[in-house]
Amino acid sequence: MTSLLIKNACIVDGTLPEPTAPQQIAIEDGRIREVAPEVAFDADETLDLGGLTVMPGLIDCHVHTIATTANLGQNAALPSSLVAAKSSKIMKDMLMRGFTTVRDLGGADRGLQQAVEQGYFTGPRLVICGKALSQTGGHTDYRGPYDNRDVSWYAQALGTLGRICDGKPELMRAARQELKGGAQFLKVMADGGVSSPSDPVGYLVFSVEELTALVEIANGFGTYVSAHLYDDAAIVRALDCGITCIEHGNLIGDATIERVAREGAFVVPTNITYDLLARRGEEFGLPPESVAKVADVREAGLERVVKLHEAGVTMGYGSDLLGGMHSEQSGEFPLRGRYIPADAVIRSATVDAAKVLRMEGEVGTIVAGAYADLIAVEGNPLENLDLLTGQGAHMPLIMQGGRAIKKAATL
Ligand code: ZN
Ligand code: ZN
Repeated sequence: MTSLLIKNACIVDGTLPEPTAPQQIAIEDGRIREVAPEVAFDADETLDLGGLTVMPGLIDCHVHTIATTANLGQNAALPSSLVAAKSSKIMKDMLMRGFTTVRDLGGADRGLQQAVEQGYFTGPRLVICGKALSQTGGHTDYRGPYDNRDVSWYAQALGTLGRICDGKPELMRAARQELKGGAQFLKVMADGGVSSPSDPVGYLVFSVEELTALVEIANGFGTYVSAHLYDDAAIVRALDCGITCIEHGNLIGDATIERVAREGAFVVPTNITYDLLARRGEEFGLPPESVAKVADVREAGLERVVKLHEAGVTMGYGSDLLGGMHSEQSGEFPLRGRYIPADAVIRSATVDAAKVLRMEGEVGTIVAGAYADLIAVEGNPLENLDLLTGQGAHMPLIMQGGRAIKKAATL
């Protein structure tokens, strides 16, 4: 099937307060050719989506497709072949929740991306950074305090989220290797974190000189640096160094929120992960010292989402889940929806997510030229964000690149 005409598509992408009037969508060779109330298009097949809400395929701007367990030190030591096999299941489940594109913030490599592109694995379009860059004792250093064994193998193992590099030359080489290996942007751990043993939140990891060098390399390549950040001082320093995408941002200050809005930087909050970790972290294999760190950032993150929204900051949808927690990926929709309007929550996984990914017009939208990635939902998500949860239960159609990944018998 190379061409399809969809009829009676009432579209919701978060840019309007109501679904559109019924539209026709012409799809050819995996892309959208035209969207209008009446399209003159001689298609091989037609599909009537009357009574349903049609949305762009959802985008999750912060995932770790290779995190097969919440104990990331254990995950790092798994054989790459086993990690790839388990990742294929994680990715398929993401797609079946309606996420047709995900941005991986550390771990997934070009091989995994190619496995999806070439049809060996069924999964979302993967946007990758390769390995996240971390310093010794930083967020992807899983060694304990007295363990200084060599971890140069982190750069090669599929099960690691990041690699360790110290000093400008090592950092620059690592960044260049990731770009050479297919990274589409660079990810740096620019603050401490909760899933690692030796880095308190607010630890100003890497020097200004190191971070600035990283931004120069990314910009020279035509891309950007995204950074793992919680603490306000760390965020200010990252912005000063030219970093333009803030992951988490739970402890961002009011003045910094204004600055981020003014400078057009992006923030990708990941509230669902703290919500779950605080409640059920131990059950999912998170070490006890990490569970204790979660409480500090959980409430703060939700409060900041309101302030970021009010300041007009462009936010991406992020889940950041690990291991057995992946099934809660869609939980960020209703969780955010308790604090900010539903249309804003939806935008963060559609048009605004595409801005974060620098793929505007390609994904997260139903317009001519975009990939034919779309979902049909029973009911109106603007009125009920829970319709986007339930492992795709309320989505009779999930389409990626014009191909129906899921199509209910009733359609
Ligand atoms: Zn992070
Ligand atoms: Zn992450």
